[in-house]
Amino acid sequence: MLALSGSDQQDWHARAHAKTIERFGREVFVRGVVEVSNFCRENCHYCGMRRDNRALSRYRANLDELTELLVEHRPSSITDVNIQSGEDPVAVREIVIPLVHRLRSQTNLGISVCAGTLTPALYNELQNAGARLYIMKFETADPSLYEQLEAPGTFSERVSHIRQLAANNWWVSSGFIAGLPGQSMENLLDNLRVARELPLHGCSVSPFIPGEETPLAQDPMASVDTVLNCTAALRLQQPELVIPAVSALNIACPGEGYRRGLRAGANLCTINLTPSEVRDNYLLYKRDRFIMNEERILAAIQEEGRQVSSRSLVEFYSSNQQRTDRPFDGHQAIPGGDGSHAFGTPRLV
Ligand code: SF4
Repeated sequence: MLALSGSDQQDWHARAHAKTIERFGREVFVRGVVEVSNFCRENCHYCGMRRDNRALSRYRANLDELTELLVEHRPSSITDVNIQSGEDPVAVREIVIPLVHRLRSQTNLGISVCAGTLTPALYNELQNAGARLYIMKFETADPSLYEQLEAPGTFSERVSHIRQLAANNWWVSSGFIAGLPGQSMENLLDNLRVARELPLHGCSVSPFIPGEETPLAQDPMASVDTVLNCTAALRLQQPELVIPAVSALNIACPGEGYRRGLRAGANLCTINLTPSEVRDNYLLYKRDRFIMNEERILAAIQEEGRQVSSRSLVEFYSSNQQRTDRPFDGHQAIPGGDGSHAFGTPRLV
């Protein structure tokens, strides 16, 4: 199914779309994202913010400006906000935690955080401040590819963090990259199996985009068909997941990638609210980012015959407390599958 194209692919995506509508109706969750720091202590080969990229101007956003933006000037369509950064514990302490406190007391936004692998103490501080959803991607299910790509820690540690976050009452969204150089079809299937095994409430499929100033800059971009076929497979195997339409679909397939994502099982859109003066330096892939502003998001939702959800992700998850930590039915056990893994040795932060 992951190699489908043409009318067979359309049928496959239509099945995934129908499953989305059956489970969620036509409503699409709409959140905002603010990218608060591009400092990162990690060195992922697929990311332009890796620590070895000395050409990048690093920034940390201003806490008061972000607060004003999100409290006073946020788009009326968003119900949630995702606070995202490179793996930068300084930014977590100085910006993210105070921002979560402020948003919790001054807005009714659902709050997600995507700030990398942190210490249990920092996760707890974020949760006590009012964040409910943590986004931690496992990136690839192949431990040796994970290591080769210098993704954070080891695959085993990453999975342990995801499990422990879930065990500590976080709702966890994860994700993987499709189309990585050297990635086999079997590895793509393993990604789907790991997504099924982990205790997730959301999961994304991101296309591999060769990032500027990275070791993979000369490698070919992912096929958007593979990415969307993975998205459809994810929807059909786990109808209950919230699946974002990722903005990188616009790079993998300019003009229609994003809307095709909504047609292949996605039900979450993200409006980029990062202040424009720093946004270009949040260099996941390329400087000429295609920014999904409110106008573009609302147009895509409308053109696909969908509508903006008035319910936040947090409200949705609260009303759907359901266990998604199902037994792994593949041939390969993943670390922590017996729930025995604790967080690895705390990192110095
Ligand atoms: S993917 Fe995340 S952890 Fe890895 S280098 Fe980029 S910002 Fe850092």
